[in-house]
Amino acid sequence: MRKILGDLKKGLLFVVSAPAGTGKTTLVRMLQREFSCVVESVSYTTREPRAQEIDGRDYHFVSREVFEQKIEEGEFLEYAQVFGHYYGTSKLFIEDKQSHGKHVMLVIDTQGALQLMNRLQAVFIFIRPPDMETLRQRLSSRKSESLEVIEERLSWAEKELALAPRYDYQIVNDYLETAYAVLRSILIAEEHRSLYS
Ligand code: ADP
Ligand code: 5GP
Repeated sequence: MRKILGDLKKGLLFVVSAPAGTGKTTLVRMLQREFSCVVESVSYTTREPRAQEIDGRDYHFVSREVFEQKIEEGEFLEYAQVFGHYYGTSKLFIEDKQSHGKHVMLVIDTQGALQLMNRLQAVFIFIRPPDMETLRQRLSSRKSESLEVIEERLSWAEKELALAPRYDYQIVNDYLETAYAVLRSILIAEEHRSLYS
């Protein structure tokens, strides 16, 4: 029987951006749980791991020296500095997963996404918070950032939201189940667009 998703020899690339605290990690993890053909790219970063984070699963946590060496060696598809730390996407990881028929989700900031637009074939998805007050509550409920860091992230969020119209799709993450249903539909539709082309 045909699968609803996961029938391509070479997987597609999806670039997902959203202001910190919007729910992009939650939504992408839901996709991975439902579909074994969906993988999230594991980025490199120079920031410190948060309490629940595991090296190699959430990020590859590396020093600035190691990150800068990787920049010089051309290992990144894109990279950017976000909140004073480097973040970058590994070219090798993506090529390997796509060639095994996996759809790869790049959960990256708007600077990184802009570097990729018009440069490679990917579907660009922006996830919006319902409003700024809800975003503040979500950032606070995560209990992983100080008040000062939360304020910094909120002011950056306004700048990221201004770039949302450049993406192929925008999803408002108000009710999680609704936002997830939209995200899931986008993947299914995009796979079917390229299934016989
Ligand atoms: P991001 O990856 O965009 O920084 P997270 O996925 O870590 O955001 O979500 C931030 C917080 O908001 C988490 O505590 C998460 O459980 C919660 N959250 C995500 N989506 C929703 C939603 N639709 N309604 C309520 N809370 C949500
Ligand atoms: P956090 O520190 O909250 O995990 O991530 C901070 C921001 O960096 C988020 O917007 C996240 O999407 C972004 N980010 C994570 N990995 C990468 C990456 O590889 N490249 C870029 N450009 N941004 C990334």
